[in-house]
Amino acid sequence: MLVLGIESSCDETGVALYDLTAGLVAHQLHTQMAMHAEYGGVVPELASRDHIRRVIPLTEACLAEVGKTLADVDAIAYTQGPGLGGALLVGASVANALAFGLNIPVIGVHHLEGHLLSPLLAEPRPDFPFIALLVSGGHTQLMAVRGIGQYEVLGETLDDAAGEAFDKTAKLLGLPYPGGPLLSRLAEEGDPTRFNLPRPMLHSDNLDMSFSGLKTAVLTLSKQVEAEHGQIDEQTRKDICRAFQDAIVEVLVSKSLKALKQTGMRKLVVAGGVGANKQLRAALDQAAARRKLEVFYPPLALCTDNGAMIAFAGAMRLQYATAPGSYSIKPRWDLSGLPAA
Ligand code: ATP
Ligand code: MG
Ligand code: FE
Repeated sequence: MLVLGIESSCDETGVALYDLTAGLVAHQLHTQMAMHAEYGGVVPELASRDHIRRVIPLTEACLAEVGKTLADVDAIAYTQGPGLGGALLVGASVANALAFGLNIPVIGVHHLEGHLLSPLLAEPRPDFPFIALLVSGGHTQLMAVRGIGQYEVLGETLDDAAGEAFDKTAKLLGLPYPGGPLLSRLAEEGDPTRFNLPRPMLHSDNLDMSFSGLKTAVLTLSKQVEAEHGQIDEQTRKDICRAFQDAIVEVLVSKSLKALKQTGMRKLVVAGGVGANKQLRAALDQAAARRKLEVFYPPLALCTDNGAMIAFAGAMRLQYATAPGSYSIKPRWDLSGLPAA
């Protein structure tokens, strides 16, 4: 059973082939980051137009990678939401049109379920149940995951997502878009003892988080440093990046441990773009080793948006596949409303 997956919710066009017996067999990605960089953020109309340009060539490249043709595909999964309306429509339309022509079924996939299940594409593969720390550009949630489609939100950010906090902080430090990964690289060379930033909601008695204040704290700190020393030099900027990253990582680790303790679960699964962060991975691994807990991550290349996670989530939901034809997108879509599979 070969499932073609198409992701187009934001600024990455991802296409992949997942085989129920052979696993992930092909995976192609085009990121629009360079195109949007000029504007300092994603321009929705440009994103949609670029998905149109990329999706068919990427599909052809995927098939060529494994010497297959469209005739070998048994079902098509596509990101139905949440995401940018126009961008989602491209993937949904192409998936439905191809499936209609091939007379095969389609499956609309929840983008966050894709992220959430992406650690199952790595080895070793975690068994259910587990706690998922979903840390992406638009979402930050701790979830109890008891099976496919059995997701209970235990806590979430009350304002900015972790990835959003990375990107916004990077921007105010003058780093080019998209700043998250770059901020993280600079932080590695920063002095952890020079500045200390607040850990928002670290000791709150729930699993909720808040990151927008941290961004403001960085702004205040930068202004203070500028007032005292004039323009911020390279090393100082690295030190500020480090202080920011230390704060966010400590909160994410502490809340994750709390979720594990509260539920009695022993496995933590990390998903979403911020899951690529080296310092977060190191801190979680260290905390887990001390407590004999296990932590699982997606393959590094599958932390941010990609087609592989959509093909995989679709393959796990084949029972919900329908005939192509009339379709809808869901730019806003609550993960907890999904049926179990
Ligand atoms: P969502 O899935 O919630 O709709 P998204 O698809 O934009 O949002 P992802 O693709 O999962 O999010 O992740 C992108 C985010 O991950 C960006 O905010 C980016 O800055 C952040 N990110 C990527 N790599 C790193 C890193 N090494 N350290 C910190 N943040 C990172
Ligand atoms: Mg993206
Ligand atoms: Fe995403």
